[in-house]
Parts: sequence; C-alpha cells; structure tokens
Amino acid sequence: MTVDLFEKFDATLNNFRQLPEGESNPFTVSMEKILSPTEAIINGRKTILAGTNNYMGMTFNEEAVAAAQDALLTQGTGTTGSRVLNGTYNSHKALEEELKKFYGTEHAMVFSTGYQANLGIIATLAGPKDYILIDADSHASIYDGCAMGNATVIRFAHNDPENLDKRLTRLRKSDPEAGVLVVVEGVYSMLGDQAPLKELAAVSKKHNAYILVDEAHSIGVFGATGRGVAQAQGVEDQIDFIVGTFSKSVGTIGGYCVSNHPKFEVLRLVCRPYMFTASLPPSVVASATKALQIIANTNLREKLLANSMRLNKGLAKIGFNMGTTGESPIAAIIVPDMHQAIAFWGEMIKEGVYVNLALPPATPNNYNLMRCSLSAAHTNEQIDYMLEKFELVGRKLGILSDKALETV
Ligand code: PMP
Repeated sequence: MTVDLFEKFDATLNNFRQLPEGESNPFTVSMEKILSPTEAIINGRKTILAGTNNYMGMTFNEEAVAAAQDALLTQGTGTTGSRVLNGTYNSHKALEEELKKFYGTEHAMVFSTGYQANLGIIATLAGPKDYILIDADSHASIYDGCAMGNATVIRFAHNDPENLDKRLTRLRKSDPEAGVLVVVEGVYSMLGDQAPLKELAAVSKKHNAYILVDEAHSIGVFGATGRGVAQAQGVEDQIDFIVGTFSKSVGTIGGYCVSNHPKFEVLRLVCRPYMFTASLPPSVVASATKALQIIANTNLREKLLANSMRLNKGLAKIGFNMGTTGESPIAAIIVPDMHQAIAFWGEMIKEGVYVNLALPPATPNNYNLMRCSLSAAHTNEQIDYMLEKFELVGRKLGILSDKALETV
C-alpha cells in the first residue's frame, strides 16, 4: 500500500476547510488591482492596504519605476543564471556598491531573497563545531538557516540579554574555543518590538561571539539615514553582519548581507543559497539601487513614525490589547480566540481594510494577531478610517477589552 505523504497535513487541511468560503477567507484573497502603495481593489471593492510592509511606499516611486523600465528594455527580463556563472551583470555589482555606500561597510553580497540571505549566511558561517544562539522569536528564515547548517543551535529568551549571557557562560565553560554566532532581529515582524542591540552586542562580545542582525523590518525605517536599529541605537561598530531584504521598505525583492569581515568575499564561493539559484532580474536590481539612494536621503521616516503612532495609540485608546508598546511601524491587535480573529479579518475586508491575519505557530506566545504595517504613504484620513473600522468590528465581535493600554 502506498503511504499517503499528505496524511501528516490532515489536521491543517481540516482547519483550512473550516474557514469561511469566498471573500472572507484570508488565505485565498487576491489583489484584483493595485491602485497605489496604500490602495487596491479586493473583492470588487476599493480597499485600504494596512498590511503590506511597504513602509516607504516605494513600489510606485517614479524614479524606481523608471529605472526598472529602462533596465527591462536594455537588459531583458532575467539573467537566466547564478551569480557565480552568467548571472553577475554590472548592475548587480553596482547594487552591491550602493549597499556598501549605504551601510559604510567593506563588503556587500546580494541574494535573490532575504529568506535566502538568512539561509545562506547562517548555514554557511556556522559549521559542525560551531554554535548558533538565536532569539526564540526568530523569523522562519533564521530557523531554516539553522536547520540547513550543521552547527549546534541554542535558543535564548526573546530580547533577553541576561538569558543570552547565561547561555553563553554555560557554553564557554564546556567549549571555550568554539566559534559562536548570535542571531537577532532589529525589529520583530509580528509585534513590532525592537531588540536591545546595545546589550545583546555587549554580551556577545564579552563571550567572543559574532553577532548578526536581521534588519528586514528596520532598513529604511530607523536610524538617521535608514540603516536600521543598529544605527538608531548607535551600535553599528559592534555588529558583525547585517542581513536585510529589498521586499519591504525598498519596495521590490531581493536580500543582502553586509559586513566588514576581511574574509567575507569567500562566501561567494561557498554559500550554496547564493550559488545555486538564479540572480535577480536587472529591473529588480535597478529599482532596488534607486530606492536605496532615495531611502538614505528621505524625510519619509518621520511621516512613517507619525502614522504608526497615530494608529498604535488610536487602537490602544479604543481599548484593544496591543502587542506593540514602543515606536514601531507595526501595530498588532491580540485577539484571544482564533475563530474570533478569523471573523475579525473577514469583517475588516468587507469594510474595506486589508490587514494581516497572523496565527500560531507563526506568532510569538501563540497569539492570534490582526497585524498592520503602516506606510509613509498612508494619509491621516486613511488611518482614521482604519481606526473607525477596527472599533466598529471590534465592538460587533465583542473583542474590545475594557481597559486601554497606557504604555503606548
Ligand atoms: N527576515 C525577516 C525578519 C522577515 O520578516 C522576512 C520576510 N518576512 C525575511 C527575513 C525574508 O525576506 P524576503 O521577503 O526578502 O525573503
């Protein structure tokens, strides 16, 4: 008898089958027409996009679009090859130069996605005799990078330098000579909380460990020139590797790693997720290069943070239980019950607001989340519309807590 390879997914399939059909199903929704970075037609209705990670609204930036169009016409639709074969064009090198300039680092390596950048860097750097210490709330790409490599993986409590110190102290007692890589994120994507990088970097250095920061949700958003949380917290000289993505504030697709390690370039010859996949299409490379230049010199950050505070504070004032308590472009409402969260999502889309429904196991503490990510391109009117609809639906579904969070 053939064993059904799909049997292990039966529970997931059953859950999926119980979801509402049609326009209220969060997993089958599609953008029928994109109108702008903040609006689309969904289910035939004009809808405000409140969950797209399009932090800087770069997807329709005129200069970035023009650069992509020009590259498309002059260099074609794709490279049809890996970076180590025919897939390195001058424009890929120019993008890496732009990244070096952006971060002020010696080295920059561009990957086809941020997911692959984490896979590649983590799995390659930490070998069989090495250790990786990761924050327990790390993104899937960090966990997958660990799974792909051969190092021993140790988790420490989320955003907890003391716990990291405890684990590193224990590790150094048993293995004083081992190579160690600590991996954290600048901003955590689900709740939008920031890492205490100063303390985490200090602990890492105390134990002679390297530290890598994934700035996927913080590039463009934080720091005087948009380099992220490491820049905002003034600890860039303490960070050994920064990984990031072009798929959020940069408005296109692709990933990267920057570093000052003198041997960094050897990774181009040993890092499999860099070598064994096709390189980014020239149009993507061109728009990423242009967007990076714009992001370094913009005042959009102020507008983005003002928008974020308007939404976060507004939601807390209405009485929602919020996951975010600091400055963050992410606003996450914690919904006690999963079915309530699914219903919440369905009602919001009918009211013309698209948010992200985030459910366990993809969420910290197994929260059911209505997650919003704000854009500098949102207007105050759009944010007020979101607030009005959140309140309306929250009351309708009986989700609103009595007490507003005072910390936001
Ligand atoms: N790291 C983090 C923290 C992320 O949130 C994401 C995307 N959700 C990635 C890496 C992967 O980025 P990409 O979309 O470029 O694959």
